[in-house]
Amino acid sequence: KNFAAALAHYADMPKPDTSPKVCFSEIFINNEWHKSKSGKTFKTVNPTTEETIAEVQEGDKEDIEVAVKAARSAFKLGAPWRRMDASDRGRLMYRLADLIERDHVYLASLETLDNGKPYFMSYNVDLPMSIKCLRYFAGWADKNHGKTIPIDGDFFTYTRHEPVGVCGQIIPWNFPILMMAWKLGPALATGNTIILKPAEQTPLTALYIAQLVKEAGFPPGVVNVVPGFGKAGAVLANHMDVDKVAFTGSTEVGNIIQQASGNTNLKRVTLELGGKSPNIILCDADLDYAVETAHFALFFNMGQCCCAGSRTFVEDSIYDEFVERSAARAKKRTVGNPFDLKNEQGPQISKVQMEKILCMIKQGKEEGAKLVVGGSRPKGDGYFVEPTVFADVQDDMTIAREEIFGPVQQLIRFKKLDEVIERANNSQYGLAAAVFTKDLDKANYVVGGLRAGTVWVNTYNILPTQAPFGGYKMSGLGRENGEYALSNYTEVKSVIVKVPQKNS
Ligand code: NAD
Repeated sequence: KNFAAALAHYADMPKPDTSPKVCFSEIFINNEWHKSKSGKTFKTVNPTTEETIAEVQEGDKEDIEVAVKAARSAFKLGAPWRRMDASDRGRLMYRLADLIERDHVYLASLETLDNGKPYFMSYNVDLPMSIKCLRYFAGWADKNHGKTIPIDGDFFTYTRHEPVGVCGQIIPWNFPILMMAWKLGPALATGNTIILKPAEQTPLTALYIAQLVKEAGFPPGVVNVVPGFGKAGAVLANHMDVDKVAFTGSTEVGNIIQQASGNTNLKRVTLELGGKSPNIILCDADLDYAVETAHFALFFNMGQCCCAGSRTFVEDSIYDEFVERSAARAKKRTVGNPFDLKNEQGPQISKVQMEKILCMIKQGKEEGAKLVVGGSRPKGDGYFVEPTVFADVQDDMTIAREEIFGPVQQLIRFKKLDEVIERANNSQYGLAAAVFTKDLDKANYVVGGLRAGTVWVNTYNILPTQAPFGGYKMSGLGRENGEYALSNYTEVKSVIVKVPQKNS
């Protein structure tokens, strides 16, 4: 749907709480709230006003040590979590989903306050997707079973799917609640224990959900939430008693985490990293729809999506018209206070990100791309960036190669199908891609040629919890969501049992 139609569709949604109370700002370990061992705190900032929302306890090495001990203890054989029936694990997860749903308006409001994303999105996208994710994985809790295997000889052989153990989960700021749900879902369903470190920019909703974990009845130590900076994440990544790290964020930090695993205990690592996803528009596509969807593919969540359609390849014969229409659409984009339902776009997450984006825009102009809309920071408070469109973008320009993570669309011309597949694949990344065409044969040909973990046909940004999501190449390792996610949190044990000889 376009934005106007979506607004009309959700017209009766509840009003936001524009100044939600911050209830929790400490470190959550063993179902209790703690101050940081160092006594340090950090500020979380409202990106719309640049004002401090709250001082949050800063977790560091010593706090992570306590959290790892709590998670290890909760994972001990005989501990309630290990003794619990798998179906009861699922029941706790359903209860957590119900509690998040109970506090839907509050959590969506808090997310908008801390992150700056439009309340319209946090209420209608982030929260429902998170709730569905937890329910989906709750259903898996008693279905992740092994196999019996007919080996040679007088043996009965079967596999057990066992939890990996203590999991460090490090998440980013672009979808704070949703990334928490994507991480908790498969880890809890398979019986692991968790130390989750939210991003320093957006700790508040993770801390509130920690309290809901306790209210749902999870035993102490199963889920621990330690707010803090990258160095706290690094302690998890280097810890000898952490069995697995799951990370979402930049490719640079993903690399560091992978190396930390190699340098310590070969802990299991899953990574969901950056992208520079190609969105290929063929000349037979429905133009109105393709322009609107390509706009959504890039501008959704202020462009702060790892799978953003940030290289829009448009076939030569429709290129000029596509540029004109995309520019008109971007000009119409409503930017401002994210609590105001008429706004499609809020601020970027931080001053650092805003400045990085403005710097990339400058580089785009210097390297010869044609700026057709936007390009500046609007006057006033908040880390806003104007919706920006570049035309005449060449593959070797910085804006066509590097992740911008902002509201900046790159329109690139192409002539032939094989040429565009090759150019689309000419990237270190391989997270997502899309093709728009009415020709099924061409669509399938492009799907087969693209090196990406998700390929959308005539749509974009559809991320159902039931389907796997993850990257080829430097976009990541492993898959989140869907049945595939379970294997990332499971060790497989072969059990071979001698049985009495046949016919004896
Ligand atoms: P980042 O990768 O630095 O941070 C993501 C998370 O990792 C945060 O929780 C952070 O505290 C933690 N972290 C940072 N350094 C760490 C380390 N050495 N060891 C362990 N954990 C560490 O991302 P950022 O600086 O917030 O954003 C930079 C860029 O990353 C963005 O411009 C964007 O390109 C990309 N990014 C991607 C995603 C994604 O969804 N894939 C999300 C956020 C940012």
